Amino acid sequence: MDLLYIFLAFVVAEINSEFGRDEDDEVVSYRGYQIWRLNFQQCVIPDEVVDKINEMRDVLGKNDEFIDFLLSPSDTKEWNQYLYSYNITYEITTYDVEEKIEQERFIMSDIRRKDDRDPDIIGRLNFTSFPRLHDLEEYYARLKRQNPWAVKIITAGLTNRNTSITCIILSDRRINAPAILIDGGMHGREWTSVFSVLYFLESIAWNFTSQPEFIRNKMWFIIPILNPDGYEYSMTKDRLWSKNRRRFSGRCDGVDINRNFDVSWCDFKASIFICSNVYCGPLEFSERESSTIRDLFKYQIFSAYVTVHSYGSRVMYPYPSQELSTHQRVTDGMAAVMRGVVGQYFRATAERSGKEYGAGTSVDWMYFVNSVAHSYVIETRGGDYFVQGDEMEVSGLEVAAALRFMAQAMG
Ligand SMILES: [Zn+2]
Repeated sequence: MDLLYIFLAFVVAEINSEFGRDEDDEVVSYRGYQIWRLNFQQCVIPDEVVDKINEMRDVLGKNDEFIDFLLSPSDTKEWNQYLYSYNITYEITTYDVEEKIEQERFIMSDIRRKDDRDPDIIGRLNFTSFPRLHDLEEYYARLKRQNPWAVKIITAGLTNRNTSITCIILSDRRINAPAILIDGGMHGREWTSVFSVLYFLESIAWNFTSQPEFIRNKMWFIIPILNPDGYEYSMTKDRLWSKNRRRFSGRCDGVDINRNFDVSWCDFKASIFICSNVYCGPLEFSERESSTIRDLFKYQIFSAYVTVHSYGSRVMYPYPSQELSTHQRVTDGMAAVMRGVVGQYFRATAERSGKEYGAGTSVDWMYFVNSVAHSYVIETRGGDYFVQGDEMEVSGLEVAAALRFMAQAMG
């Protein structure tokens, strides 16, 4: 195993030196960029318009209710005319994306300054700010030291930048405990998903042995950041970076991990163009991040899988589900307990919207290829990716409530 990693590290170093390093990239500015929202309930939006948006624009959020997409300052006039020709009204949810990024930076640096003075946070994760990868390494080590019986930390895989994809395994070591796999941070810019998975981890890891039976009788595999390179890049260079950081020789980089699984690979909803944010990659499982998930199945059978994304306030199950009543019952329950936290409206729905289904997505690969009985997507709260005050902790509470509900429903 170690020898294999050394060999891979060598290959990776070769690739990176050929096409440049992330550290040398310019910081991307979104000055004057806007986010537009089309609401499916307010007017009829033909499929060809949705297709064009999917093909041409960076879609930030989409479900059965709305589609949000990004427009550069030079594109707004043309898109206004285009939508006008279909009689489609739109809402501008953000007039200047860079201003939002600046506000977010200010909020986070202000929080960090205060936290530096606060002795209470030592030893625990700081749930008022987003951790960097190096913060998390220390955190995981503390978790393990505190609770060596229940906590195991493994490197589930390495990215093609040689970054560890860390998996925390929690169990009380009973035989034949059903295993549950949770991942967050599959898309770099979705910081709330990372935060929410960490929040759940924190809520059960420190006192695992005194958790209720429905938590203790499972074996939990938790990957808070499946795409660590994309996450770091979104923190340092490009706030809206979503894909992994695989370098290609042209002007665009990265593969969408959630289009790279071997199920209806590169079908609808994915793109064969490298510059697209939903680029499916050169082959099924061409990416280290998706193949890390695949390889876990060589050692472990999973009874449940939940992938946490941002944003849209949804719990979704695979389409078409062969166990529709079970999936609806469990996801309805998950959405209900999420609503119960502070009243935010969460809805359970099939993953499909309109004519599309999830090409190359992890949730479909788990259910249709691996027969994982419970395979769900959680889309966290909020109307965009940006951090606003105490919303992060509320999101953590909501996701933790949903995961606890699912574990309880499994028995
Ligand atoms: Zn996502």
